[in-house]
Amino acid sequence: MDIKDLYRQVIMDHYKYPKNKGLNTENLNYFTVHMHNPSCGDDMTVQVLVENDLITDVRHQGTGCSICCSSASVLSETLKAKHANDGLEIIHEFYELIKGLPYDSKKLEGDAIVYQTVHQFPARIKCATLAWKAAEAALETLAKRKDE
Ligand code: ZN
Repeated sequence: MDIKDLYRQVIMDHYKYPKNKGLNTENLNYFTVHMHNPSCGDDMTVQVLVENDLITDVRHQGTGCSICCSSASVLSETLKAKHANDGLEIIHEFYELIKGLPYDSKKLEGDAIVYQTVHQFPARIKCATLAWKAAEAALETLAKRKDE
């Protein structure tokens, strides 16, 4: 099995058995961001719960292609239990990886690295980053709120 097959399999596993799927409608402290990718039809809602500067939960719910839905699952696993500021840095490293650029493998760990071949398919870049953009918007808004 070559590395691309392995990556594809990890992506399909997250697509079929997503982690942290389903929104929390009871706890009003979750920050919710909805994003849409018209070029593919992906539709994604991401919820982030930050408590004492720690990302204690990430939820997602959406419809779309396997790249988009699996990357929401990977995002939720990658950001959980991270410091909120580190979360933004991790997201930035993911954008570098998606573009096929060097990234910091100490910051970006786990299944997220399976998307490093996506840059060969430019149309899929928006799919792979949709949930991450939603989480980034949530973390940036929460950081701004904290400064006020
Ligand atoms: Zn897509």
